[in-house]
Amino acid sequence: MSHPFAVLLAAFFFGVSATPVFAQSQTAEVPARAQLAEATTQPVRRQETTAEFARVVEQVDEFAEEYGAESVLLVVDLDNTLLAMNQDLGSDQWFTWQEALQNSDQAHPELVASDFGGLLEIQGILFALSRMHPPEPGLPDLVEDLVTRKITTVVLTSRGKEFRDAAERELKRNKYNISPSTLEIHEKRGVFSPYSAEHPGKHGLSAEIIDDLGSPRRVTYSEGIYMTAGQHKGYMLKTLLARSTRASANQPFAHFKAIVFVDDHQKHVDRMQEAFAGDSIDLATFRYSREDGNVEKFNKSTKHHVIRDWDLLNGFIKTVLVK
Ligand SMILES: [Mg+2]
Repeated sequence: MSHPFAVLLAAFFFGVSATPVFAQSQTAEVPARAQLAEATTQPVRRQETTAEFARVVEQVDEFAEEYGAESVLLVVDLDNTLLAMNQDLGSDQWFTWQEALQNSDQAHPELVASDFGGLLEIQGILFALSRMHPPEPGLPDLVEDLVTRKITTVVLTSRGKEFRDAAERELKRNKYNISPSTLEIHEKRGVFSPYSAEHPGKHGLSAEIIDDLGSPRRVTYSEGIYMTAGQHKGYMLKTLLARSTRASANQPFAHFKAIVFVDDHQKHVDRMQEAFAGDSIDLATFRYSREDGNVEKFNKSTKHHVIRDWDLLNGFIKTVLVK
């Protein structure tokens, strides 16, 4: 651990907080005498918000220095983290708005579809037609640098498997290539059910957690891109790690000693912290806020522009494409 024993002694005698590397939103408590030895082995739990991906790189470097590059796992979200939509129609904030409208009023005149399946179908059309860009121009280079240094990297997205082609195409077009340094798993086919109530414990999740999560939806993992269909990202990562070629019953997190997770949604950051709360692996999570301004601008807008854009596009589709 990065804190020397002297700091712990100071904590004990002078009441200085010395719980190892708990930062910001974590409340560090002064360890009692009986807990002092235990405190030295407590895992890192760090939560930050940043608009600079360089801050994530710094954290990866810090863990890599302590444990070695091969023991650090970087997990990065896709939408509004690695890539943002070039226009509002079809963006993450557009989808969130449509989903909320559906939940409040299924007959709302601004809805593009009356049910969730219909919304996903339209989202698929928009993913297929749209281009995306990195929120920070230098982001692909920062990721490439980590991949070159053999930091195991996984893209973890809430998108479902049906949107894989569009995701891979835009990642490639924007010069992201994580496949040389990603996690290898046992699943051969790439498409699998992440957990099963009949086999609790087999894929890293207890019967209690599986019971809480309910029925699984199928996911895909290939080229380092893990498409989890809106399921709990923390537990989805755990079941992926349990499938790693280097994981075992005694080592459900394979050889990893630290995880760095980046996502624009606080919900997913919270879920990642929740899933690993009782585990000995170090975890640093970053809520990536680079696109916050664009999201807020869209949320405050009249939405007239996206309603008009969809009407235009839908009109062309209906006119040109034969059903
Ligand atoms: Mg996202």
